[in-house]
Amino acid sequence: MPYTLPYALMCSVCYNNFKRIKQFALVLLGDSGVGKSCIVLRFVRGQFDPTSKVTVGASFLSQTLALEDSTIVKFEIWDTAGQERYAALAPLYYRGAAAAIVVYDITSPESFSKAQYWVKELQKHGSPGIVMVLVGNKADLHENRSVSSQDAQEYAEKNNMFFIETSAKTADNINQLFEEIAKRLPRPTAS
Ligand code: GDP
Repeated sequence: MPYTLPYALMCSVCYNNFKRIKQFALVLLGDSGVGKSCIVLRFVRGQFDPTSKVTVGASFLSQTLALEDSTIVKFEIWDTAGQERYAALAPLYYRGAAAAIVVYDITSPESFSKAQYWVKELQKHGSPGIVMVLVGNKADLHENRSVSSQDAQEYAEKNNMFFIETSAKTADNINQLFEEIAKRLPRPTAS
């Protein structure tokens, strides 16, 4: 089972036990309020803060993930603001990113349309070979669902993306999301 490691612990212990370490820039894109910051905080700190403030500009956090094959992946995570007025800044973060998580809220068709806008942007201007993942967040609100899993899955397949539904609130599929990204990133070569 892959697991996350505090960075200091990783430095002191893992160089002996893990042979291959690689770091990747990862960017989150999507409408404001879909839960990007909560996904990152759930993954990095294991917490959910319902009073989480809207991201202004972009924020940065990092987290490591140790995989079963002794590879350590260090994610440098850029969480971008969803508001229109910051859209022009997004290319600063997704150009050069190895992976992009495009998030929508399963209760909001508008946020699914916005996710499709970001996918097109990434296809036009993202790094060649960028790993793109489509995430339907707030899966705990399934009673208010208005984007079907099937539509999202079909859209993701057409656009060569991995698709997963998550809940930052309940932690459902949050680690799995980052593990799937790690699996799709180029593997560092053994030293
Ligand atoms: P961002 O603007 O995309 O970064 O969105 P935030 O992470 O700030 O979250 C916006 C709001 O959605 C906050 O009030 C969160 O409490 C709520 N939220 C985020 N993720 C979830 C989730 O998985 N389930 C539910 N029910 N609420 C969520």
